Amino acid sequence: MPIIAEAQETYLRMREKLKDVVPDVELQYKAELVFEINRLKRQRGAVILGHNYMEPALYHTVPDFKGDSLELSRRAAETSGDPIVFCGVRFMAETAKILNPEKTVLLPSQEAGCSLAGSITAEDVRQLKRRYPGVPVVTYVNTYADVKAESDVCCTSGNAAAVVESLKTDTVIFLPDEYLAKNVARETGKHVIFPLKDTSGLRSADASLDYAMIGWHGKCEVHDKFSVGDIKRVRQQFPDVAILAHPECPPEVVAASDFSGSTSAMIKYVETTRASRYLLLTECSMGDNIAAENPGKEMLRLCSVRCPHMNQITLEDTLNALKHNRYIIEVPEDIRVRAKRAVDRMLKIG
Ligand code: SF4
Repeated sequence: MPIIAEAQETYLRMREKLKDVVPDVELQYKAELVFEINRLKRQRGAVILGHNYMEPALYHTVPDFKGDSLELSRRAAETSGDPIVFCGVRFMAETAKILNPEKTVLLPSQEAGCSLAGSITAEDVRQLKRRYPGVPVVTYVNTYADVKAESDVCCTSGNAAAVVESLKTDTVIFLPDEYLAKNVARETGKHVIFPLKDTSGLRSADASLDYAMIGWHGKCEVHDKFSVGDIKRVRQQFPDVAILAHPECPPEVVAASDFSGSTSAMIKYVETTRASRYLLLTECSMGDNIAAENPGKEMLRLCSVRCPHMNQITLEDTLNALKHNRYIIEVPEDIRVRAKRAVDRMLKIG
């Protein structure tokens, strides 16, 4: 097919899917970028992984695989494409590199960090291990490679409770998301404490010894913004709304919602239930992506909450990543090997 006709076809496909969520003038421009990215991707034998929080015009067009952290970790382990272009944030691209040391892993923007991953260092984990010797360490995948390397096993929001229970120990160190720790503690019937950090090191926040989970004060700056007040206001106006909260939301928000699960679990919930309308308490591009996939379902928006890190990944950057082979993710081999052990153990649990 001639190039112009192919580019036009790309635009028409995008318009069909995205006409309700992306303005047409933007679609025309983005279709050209999408066309060029897909052409270069084929030429280079690359594979593109797209997180559920990518903007709709990227999410629905260029990724070979889409999903949450866990699904993308699995895909990263299985993929035959090289380079791997990770449309997500740095810790996710690092996980792809941990699982694919021989491949080139590209992150389209150097600014795509994460408030949770940035909340804890490898030295913090070492201090906790000294403070609580012998206690296994579970770290959320939203951490950097050197933190994973200090851990016994990783988890995602989708399998956190299963990972904690698989350890069959009385006590676990669970890092770094405070709210996820509280939500998992509630689900698994454990009591959670948060050691305080000061200049002299770590102090226990709680003198009693009945704790079963030792957490950390990390937070996702996006999910931290939702409140029970938001839920009350929406329910007043729409009593029949089904409210879905991500487990990184505060525990009282999760408790006041109808469903809580990973981004992929939320997608499945919307696809398989028949509520009159849905409200997703999570990153707002994901709401747009689900709306585009489910045109017959009404999605309410509280959409001032876009992750500033995920937002760094644009179609322009993705094209430049393929054109200029940037930005290459490197993980030192000794850290990679230890981090892989924790990631592999998580992948086996499911
Ligand atoms: S949504 Fe939250 S956890 Fe995810 S990348 Fe953004 S800041 Fe990190």
